Amino acid sequence: MVKWGGAATFAFLLVASVVSVRWHFGWAGAGGWMVEASWGTVNVARIRQYDMPKYAYNRLFFQQKKDFALHTRIEWFLKPPYGYLAIPLWIPAAVTLAATAGAWRLDALARRNERRDSCKMCGYDLAGLPPGSACPECNKVDVIA
Ligand SMILES: [Zn+2]
Repeated sequence: MVKWGGAATFAFLLVASVVSVRWHFGWAGAGGWMVEASWGTVNVARIRQYDMPKYAYNRLFFQQKKDFALHTRIEWFLKPPYGYLAIPLWIPAAVTLAATAGAWRLDALARRNERRDSCKMCGYDLAGLPPGSACPECNKVDVIA
């Protein structure tokens, strides 16, 4: 579950990064609030409403930008009531990748442990016992693969 969710999330973030180099997309709400991916970052912002993507009030938008760019650092400005916070997509992508790699690794280890001669119930080492024996530790039968 984590494995595939993580892989899908990572793929999505990667695609979003690439697409956001040329297009920005997200949601633009009332009052100048918006959440968008743009130039390699995900931005939460409140901007002057006339700067909002045209025709995008309270809806999703997907628009081409004038320039190509890829921002890789956290950026922000605050000038009440306006401001924005831009978090580069590579940060959540890296976190997702690390978590997903960890999940794959744990899964591989679990599968390897299953194959080994250990009790599926309690993990007790059953090497040398004939198939069909009960586990000497927890008495579960049929634990030898
Ligand atoms: Zn056992």
